[in-house]
Amino acid sequence: SAAEAGLYTASDQVIVLSQENVESVLINSSAAVLVEFYASWCGHCIAFSPVYKSLASDIKEWKPAVDLAAVDCAAEENRKVCTGFGIRAYPTIKFFHAYSKADSTGQAFKASTHDVRVLRHRIIDKLESHEEPWPPACPPLEPTSQAEIDSFFETNSVQHLALIFEDTKSYIGREVTLDLLQYENVAVRRVLSTEEGLVTKLGVTEFPSCYLYSPQGNLTRLKVNIEARTFYSYALQRLPGVVRSGKPLPVTLDILTNSTEEPWRPFNRSGVYMADLESTLHYSLRVEVAAHTLIKGEALTSLKKYISVLTKYFPGRPVVMSLLKSVNSWLQNQTGDEISYEALKEILDNSAQSPDTALPEGERWVGCQGSRPHLRRYPCGMWTLFHALTVQAKNAGGTDPQEVLSAMRNYVHSFFGCRACAEHFEIMATESLVEVNTLSSAVLWLWSRHNRVNNRLAGDLSEDPNFPKIQWPPPEMCPACHTVKENGEHKWSQEQVLLFLLSHFSSSSILTDYLE
Ligand code: FAD
Repeated sequence: SAAEAGLYTASDQVIVLSQENVESVLINSSAAVLVEFYASWCGHCIAFSPVYKSLASDIKEWKPAVDLAAVDCAAEENRKVCTGFGIRAYPTIKFFHAYSKADSTGQAFKASTHDVRVLRHRIIDKLESHEEPWPPACPPLEPTSQAEIDSFFETNSVQHLALIFEDTKSYIGREVTLDLLQYENVAVRRVLSTEEGLVTKLGVTEFPSCYLYSPQGNLTRLKVNIEARTFYSYALQRLPGVVRSGKPLPVTLDILTNSTEEPWRPFNRSGVYMADLESTLHYSLRVEVAAHTLIKGEALTSLKKYISVLTKYFPGRPVVMSLLKSVNSWLQNQTGDEISYEALKEILDNSAQSPDTALPEGERWVGCQGSRPHLRRYPCGMWTLFHALTVQAKNAGGTDPQEVLSAMRNYVHSFFGCRACAEHFEIMATESLVEVNTLSSAVLWLWSRHNRVNNRLAGDLSEDPNFPKIQWPPPEMCPACHTVKENGEHKWSQEQVLLFLLSHFSSSSILTDYLE
């Protein structure tokens, strides 16, 4: 269909406009909207689309204030939309104010660059010159003053006020303000270096720098590795008490205990837990695969590969390894083209009768606990398991770089209960799994695709407000993983990320708390 022929999908954090939704998106919206009018056949548009996608991902947290949309003017059914706005050349970008009227044709927006940073700054310029009514979700962007700070906590009930001290020309303060707009219990204001009274009183000498101002009047420097936008935003989003807003109430530990009817198990957020890996195996083998009474053809091949990879690389306790081994040898001996789940279950149960062979029954989530029973858990465990397997394959010196990823892909395709997840994952695998040609690149491939999924799901209903989807690992977990380019934009150090992953998911780092 035409929708599929376009350059964007909803997974890009870009609203795909059509005749049907154009009014509801653009007219009377409480957010400003930037719209790209393009033609899918136009070379410049094709070249610009990755830039627009990066921009969308870069400012996805700003959505309630300013959202991104795109419309394919080459699609027959969209012709009226595009001519209605007087579009003749592609790509054309327009900025629509919040609460635009039906006759609005938007403001010109200069897009003559492939530099995401420049585009982002132009969006801020547009927001700052936004006429009334101001988009309600957009926090104040103008510099703050001594007077505002003095009375801040009288009128605001937030726990943290972050002050970003910066030069007049710097956009960092405004960027961080917008990056935090979906978070509760924190507010951000910029203080200009020219605001001498405040700067001298507080003894600030570095620009940019970020300080936390407490209701008691204490000022503490925010510790970051590099004084740059992404580092401030990461750190502020993860302050104690800061949760994503617009979600079912921020939960406290007491409520957690009651709502899950299971005791909350305190855990280290930067740890990998064997209890999660074993719970994942339990759910996968006793619940998910059990949904198939007969396992045949492609599904049988998938199951064999999956169990074989687990037998080789699952970093498990000897009892669990011994169980996997016996399931594996039984399974590889099945030469027919189908097996029944009953037969597999018998092997799982029988093997477990021997004292030194077992797969613990039931789920006991630790690092994958969610603040509601329907959040996190199994999919979290699945990711954890697959990362651990790619790392184990590398550490054990496997021979086939794609062995684990391909087994994972087949398992997800044949069995993973979340069908939309499976489809998305299959698309990513088809796109780029061929590029994986070393065991290290397999580890990094999974890391970067997982981050893509995190990007797509940030702010989604399935996100646990206490565990917001972030680009992972955050700087406090791996400082060396994060660097900046010359222009101050964030950049991953892939070399360091690899070292980090190899150690984070190595068998010696796996924590054994809460095991039976
Ligand atoms: P998860 O994303 O599950 O991550 C688990 C843990 O892994 C995190 O707590 C963190 O410690 C670590 N981690 C996070 N990012 C990385 C990374 N980049 N590299 C290494 N470790 C990391 N849900 C949908 O709604 N739509 C989908 O299309 C979708 N696709 C999925 C595809 C697969 C293959 C899987 C396994 C799950 C998918 N899900 C999808 C579920 C979703 O990704 C999450 O698993 C779920 O929302 C639970 O999120 P979480 O907060 O527990 O963190």
